[in-house]
Amino acid sequence: MEEPAATVGVLALQGDVREHEVAFGEVGVRTRRVLRPADLDGLDGLVLPGGESTTLSMLLESSGLFEPVEKAIVGGMPVFGTCAGLILLAGRVEDGRPDQRSFGVLDCTVRRNGYGPQRFSFEGRAAPATDELGTEPVPAVFIRAPVVVEVGPGAEVLATEDGDGSPVLVRQGHILAATFHPELTADRRLQQMFAAMARPAACHGR
Ligand code: GLN
Repeated sequence: MEEPAATVGVLALQGDVREHEVAFGEVGVRTRRVLRPADLDGLDGLVLPGGESTTLSMLLESSGLFEPVEKAIVGGMPVFGTCAGLILLAGRVEDGRPDQRSFGVLDCTVRRNGYGPQRFSFEGRAAPATDELGTEPVPAVFIRAPVVVEVGPGAEVLATEDGDGSPVLVRQGHILAATFHPELTADRRLQQMFAAMARPAACHGR
């Protein structure tokens, strides 16, 4: 029997929404823009794109999406956060604005804009730390990227930055997060990985 295709929501309040839609389309995943709480209904997964975590935090509150998204994630909905999206998932945020909120579901500490002005934005490589990604480095575009400075026992490191060895792809159960922008390169390994996490069959009992 053919597996039903997943429908993944892309939080569309701010950031590079279109690029995620195109990238997931390329691996056969349907997407739906999430702008209001009702847009979450029936989704198999949710992408939190890059942008600005302070702005996203504010918009999540003003749109009434913060609590519904939090509830969905805590309830087991697969979620993929990239860059600012990772900051929104992190348990601990350094150099954040005092009023910015995160869902706090990923056991790691992240430092906003952690590469500093020297390496503000750059193209690097994410070296796989798991066979699931194969052995070839994943091309990784970092844009004012956060640095994961500590990973707690609840989360696993799936890839590290080729240069400094810091974790750049982290997973905790149904939560996947990258400090870089996998939607801006042609490599689709991370979309495939998240598509497998969000497959409708994988969601039974949710
Ligand atoms: N520096 C941004 C923040 O703190 C993240 C940048 C990005 O998502 N490309 O939210």
